[in-house]
Amino acid sequence: MSFVSNKVNDLPPYLFSEFQQKKKDLREKGVDVIDLGIGAPDLPTPDFIIDRLTEEARAPANHGYSTYSGIKEFREAVAHFYKRRYDVELDPETEVLAVIGSKEGIANLMQATVNPGEKVLVPDPGYPAYRTAVQLAGGISEQLPLDEANGYLPLYGHIDQASVNQAVLMLLNYPNNPTAATADYNTFLEAIAFAEKNQLLLVHDAAYDMLTFDGYEAPSVLQVPEAKACAVEFGSLSKNFNMTGWRIGYAVGNRKVIKALSALKSNIDSSQFIPVQKAAATALTSDYSAVDEHSKIYEERMETLYTSFRKLGIEADKPNGTIFFWAKVPDGFTSMSFAGKLLDEAGVIITPGNAFGSRGEGYFRVALTVSIDRLEEVIERMKQLNLEG
Ligand SMILES: *Cc1c(COP(=O)(O)O)cnc(C)c1O
Repeated sequence: MSFVSNKVNDLPPYLFSEFQQKKKDLREKGVDVIDLGIGAPDLPTPDFIIDRLTEEARAPANHGYSTYSGIKEFREAVAHFYKRRYDVELDPETEVLAVIGSKEGIANLMQATVNPGEKVLVPDPGYPAYRTAVQLAGGISEQLPLDEANGYLPLYGHIDQASVNQAVLMLLNYPNNPTAATADYNTFLEAIAFAEKNQLLLVHDAAYDMLTFDGYEAPSVLQVPEAKACAVEFGSLSKNFNMTGWRIGYAVGNRKVIKALSALKSNIDSSQFIPVQKAAATALTSDYSAVDEHSKIYEERMETLYTSFRKLGIEADKPNGTIFFWAKVPDGFTSMSFAGKLLDEAGVIITPGNAFGSRGEGYFRVALTVSIDRLEEVIERMKQLNLEG
């Protein structure tokens, strides 16, 4: 008896276990390892959000189960956010659903919308959890190629029509993890037209929608007229408000899909702790000055890295958002050999681009989640390396 399902046995191995072991070994030897691999903010959750949590945690009325779709105050706060930020009207009763972080929401969405054997168009490079979510639902991931030359926007012409015909769903993510690419309204206009023409559900992951730089504002896919007919969007408090561990996000858009996801979830979880939802509602109805401050911090870090990388001869586009920096590995290296060299010889952890799909080969991702002082230390250590390969 193996006790373990094929589903779990078939999950891809964790690519970084070797790096994690090395990191541990180096730290035990006293090496000051700088980890730029973790895609989570280093900054604390703003106090006004914590205050609401602690206050609500003391009220016995908040200790029971939430309604399955999330409490009304939270769903109304999400609708408020969409109206204010995107001028998009949402019905909090039928078009908004609370999720326990967008990772949970996206994994369960696949179960709620994809039948075994059906295809899903998944961006490559892309957030690895998409592929495993499709796999767990018995679906088949079809590569939606993103290329540097095209600003990492979808290359629909590169997918063969037979695969498109077999597909039921397409995933997009802008501002993008791992490439930090951003999209404009026309990208979504085109995506909706492609989805409609090919009868696909379009799922947009907007995990970094508020973390943007230099005056750029990320659009919502729901700003496209009629988008609700074929699209849902996921949003999260995790990155925008430094709340990764709180596990709170939302799905919005097509009511049939929202209802299906809610029906599935009501058999698996019972939504999020009410005080967490209330604190998240406070965040979404705040003045967003805290988010703007975070964005400025990431932008400064990004500028520091961009300038220094150029001096080191490392090629990269300057990002307009996210908490990442995506760059080409120097000549003579693969993604893995570069990551290995940085860890072994500089004590610096970055994420090799191939961790995000085959098209990420030749690139690496840096998380902007350490202070400028630490980034400068990283640059100093990189200068000591012979990066000509
Ligand atoms: C971090 C991240 C998520 C997960 O967010 P949670 O709401 O914390 O689950 C989803 N999508 C992308 C692209 C991410 O980088």
